[in-house]
Amino acid sequence: RIISGESSGSAEDQTELSLRPRTLSQYIGQEKIKQEVAVYIKAAKKREEPLDHVLLYGPPGLGKTTLAGVIANEMAVNFKTTSGPAIEKPGDLVALLNELQPGDILFIDEIHRLPKNVEEILYSAMEDFYIDIVVGQDATAHPVHFPLPPFTLVGATTRAGLLSAPLRARFGIVEHMNYYTKDELTEVVLRSAAVFNTKIDPLGAQEIARRSRGTPRVSNRLLKRVRDFAQVAQKDSIDKEIVDYALRLLQVDEHGLDETDRKMLETMIELYDGGPVGLATIAANIGEETDTVADMIEPYLMQIGFIKRTARGRMVTRAAYSHLGIEPNNQKNY
Ligand code: ADP
Repeated sequence: RIISGESSGSAEDQTELSLRPRTLSQYIGQEKIKQEVAVYIKAAKKREEPLDHVLLYGPPGLGKTTLAGVIANEMAVNFKTTSGPAIEKPGDLVALLNELQPGDILFIDEIHRLPKNVEEILYSAMEDFYIDIVVGQDATAHPVHFPLPPFTLVGATTRAGLLSAPLRARFGIVEHMNYYTKDELTEVVLRSAAVFNTKIDPLGAQEIARRSRGTPRVSNRLLKRVRDFAQVAQKDSIDKEIVDYALRLLQVDEHGLDETDRKMLETMIELYDGGPVGLATIAANIGEETDTVADMIEPYLMQIGFIKRTARGRMVTRAAYSHLGIEPNNQKNY
C-alpha cells in the first residue's frame, strides 16, 4: 500500500534516512512531546545522568524512530536500534546490552513483540542496570550476574495496551504520538522537497499533505511518487494539478483513503448495513489481519470521523456514507 504508514524495505529506508530530522528544532509537529522531552533532556544532562526510559506509542510512520534518534543526538550519545522480533533469545539482548556505553540509547521498535523470556530480563536491566542469566546446560548450568552501564531504553509500539503491565511500568516517560495536522505535513513536504532539490508549489505541497492520512512517512512517499510524474510530464515545479493527476492514478482519494480503506467501509455497509460489527469480522471479510486493521486502517478512519466505536462494535458514520456517495439507511442512528 502506497499510503501505509509502515516502512517497506531497504531502498526506501535509505531515502528515509536522508529525510530524517536530526534535532528537536528540525522535528516538525508533536509540540507537546517536544516541549516535555526538551526539559527531560536538559535535566538529565545537568545531572549527568542518562535520560529515563521512554515509551513512544502511536500508528506507524508518525516519527517514533526519528524522535528516538533526535533524542540520542540531543543527548550526544550513541544510538543503537533493533526491534522486538529481531531479538529471539535472551542471549541476543545480552549481546546488545553488552555493547552499550554509559548513557547510550537502545531503541527497540515493536517492543510489544519481544519474546516473554527476553522481556523478563529487560526488567532488571531497565530498573537496576544488571541482568542475571543462566549459562550452560544441565549439570554445568549456573547463574551469571552481569552489571550493565546505565543506559536509556526507548521503546516504540503501535498501542500502549499491547505491552505487559510490568514492562510498561518501567518507562518513566510515556508519550502518545498524534497524527499530524495538514499544516505540519505541508512543512514536512516542503522540507523533504528541499532535501530532494525538487521545486514544489505551496498548493502542491498542501495537496500532498491533505492526502497523507496525518502521517509524515506517507507524505514523503507520496512526494516521491508525484515527483516521478512531474519529471515525466516535464514540469519544473510540482503543482496541484500534477498532484491531483498522480494521486488519482494511484487511487489515493481526497481524504488520503486507498482501496483497502474504501473496501473496509463498503464491506461494513454492504454486509452489515454500516455496523455495528466486530473488528475481527471486518478483517476476515476484507482478507486482512485483525492487527493490521487495528493498527493501520482503523485509527485513521476513526480520526477523520468515518468510523466510530460503540459497545457493540464499529459503525460507519454518515460522513463516510457521504464520502463514498452511498445513501445511508435513514432508519439507523449512525
Ligand atoms: P515510525 O518509527 O513511527 O514508524 P519514522 O520515525 O520511521 O516513523 O518516520 C518515518 C519518516 O517520516 C521518517 O523517515 C522521517 O523522514 C519522516 N518524519 C517522521 N516524523 C517527522 C517529523 N516530525 N518531522 C519531519 N519528518 C518526519
